[in-house]
Amino acid sequence: MSVRVLSEADVYRLLPVADCIAPMEEVLASLAREELYNPLRFVVRPPGERTLMGLMPAHRGGADSVYSLKTVCIAPGNAARGLDSHQGFVALFDGETGAARALVNAGAITAIRTAAVSAVATKLLARPNSTRLAILGAGTQARAHLEAMRAVFSFEHVTAWSRTPGRAALLPDVEEVYSARSAVSGADVVVTATSARDPIIQYAWLAEGAHVNAVGSSIPSTRELDTETMAQAALFVDRRESTLAESGDYLFAAGEGAIGPDAIRAEIGELLIGSAEGRRSDEELTVFKSLGLAVEDLAAAEAVLRRALAEGAGVEVEL
Ligand code: NDP
Repeated sequence: MSVRVLSEADVYRLLPVADCIAPMEEVLASLAREELYNPLRFVVRPPGERTLMGLMPAHRGGADSVYSLKTVCIAPGNAARGLDSHQGFVALFDGETGAARALVNAGAITAIRTAAVSAVATKLLARPNSTRLAILGAGTQARAHLEAMRAVFSFEHVTAWSRTPGRAALLPDVEEVYSARSAVSGADVVVTATSARDPIIQYAWLAEGAHVNAVGSSIPSTRELDTETMAQAALFVDRRESTLAESGDYLFAAGEGAIGPDAIRAEIGELLIGSAEGRRSDEELTVFKSLGLAVEDLAAAEAVLRRALAEGAGVEVEL
C-alpha cells in the first residue's frame, strides 16, 4: 500500500486560491444537501499549554467514498520562528478499503480553503458594486484572503491593518493604516483574520451595507467582532452546529443575551442550493462567521491529490 505525500510547496502550486473556490462551492452545497458527514472537531488542549491539537474528521459516501482527517497543531508563536501557525497534514483514506491514499500539508490546505470559502461567501453576500476592501491582520490567513477577495471582486482600494506596525505594508498592493477603525471606515468588504482575543471591530465603525468575513476566531474563548456587530448583522455561517458550539464571536454575544440561534439567517451551503435567502437590501450589514469545516479540508485535499496524480507531483511512499 502506498501513500502520496504532498508538501506545502506542492499544495500552493497545485491549488491556487482562485481554483479552490469552485470545489468549496460544491462541497458546501453538498453539505447543505446532507450528503456528507462532518462531526464536530475534537480539540486537544493540554492544561497550561499555549499550543493545541485539532482533529477534524469527515466522510463522503457513495461512489468514490472517502474518509479524511486533518490533524493540525496550532502554535501561536510560530510566526516569530518563520513557521506557519498551523502544522500537520490532511490524511485521505479510501472509503471502501480504508487504505490511506494521501498525506497533504495542512497549513497550506487550511490557508487556501478558508480563503476560498470566504470568497464564496463574499460573492454571495457583498454588494455587487463593492470597491473598497479592508484586511485586518497580516498573517497567513490575511495573505490568502487578499488573494481570494481579489479573485471575486475588482477592488479599487485596499486598506490593511495589523497589530504590529509595518506588517500590513508587506501585503501586496495595499495601503497600510494604523488603526482597525481607519481600515474598516468606508469599506464595502472587511476581512478579520487575526488571533485577537477581544473585539477588534466595533459596529459603529462599519459602513452601511458592508459585508464582513470574520475568520480569525475559531474557538469559543476569543472573538474579533463586538456584540453590537453580531446583534445588528444578518448572520451567515459555514455550519449552524459548529457556530453554536465553537464560535466565540457568536457565544460571547449570545452570553450577553444579545442574540440566539435564530440570529443565524443561513448556512452558506443553503444559499448555494437556494433553500435560504441572502442579503435583503443594500443597507443591510452582512457577516459571514467562518469556523472552518473538516469537509472543506477533505474537498481541498482531494482537489490537490487529483492534480498531483495527473501530473505526477509529490512523493509516493510505501506504508
Ligand atoms: P498568523 O499567526 O499567521 O497571523 C496572526 C495575525 O493576527 C497577525 O497579523 C497578528 O498580528 C495578529 N494578532 C495576533 N494577536 C493579536 C491580537 N491580540 N490583536 C490583534 N491582532 C493580533 O495566523 P493565521 O493567519 O494562520 O491565523 C489567523 C487566525 O485565523 C488565527 O486565530 C487562526 O486560529 C484563525 N483561523 C481560522 C480559520 C477558519 O477556518 N476560520 C482557519 C485557520 C485559521 P502581528 O502583525 O502583530 O503579528
